[in-house]
Amino acid sequence: MTDEGSSFPDVEGNPANTVSNDEVVRLWARFRGGDVVPCPRDDSAFALAVDGAAKSYRLVCTKCGLSSPWFGTTPTGLVLRGHSTLLEDGSDGSA
Ligand SMILES: [Zn+2]
Repeated sequence: MTDEGSSFPDVEGNPANTVSNDEVVRLWARFRGGDVVPCPRDDSAFALAVDGAAKSYRLVCTKCGLSSPWFGTTPTGLVLRGHSTLLEDGSDGSA
C-alpha cells in the first residue's frame, strides 16, 4: 500500500496512464452489468470514483492507478468529460 492521503492518483497530463474513450465505453458497460472489470495493465479490479458535485464518474485501477476520463451517464450513453471536473465557479476542491 502506498496511499499517501489521496484517494486516487493524479494522472493529469499523463496520457500514458489513462484509458481511451472507446475503452471507457466498453469498461463501463461491463461494470454496470455487474462484472468485475480487470485493469488491462495488471488485471487488478477497477473501482468507480464518483464526483457527486459534477455528477461524474470514472474508473480507476485500485493497484496501478490507471484511470478513465471522467464521464457522465445519459439514457443514450456516456458523455466523456476528460480528466478535469472543474466546476464553473472555479472550485477544484483544493483549499
Ligand atoms: Zn492496473
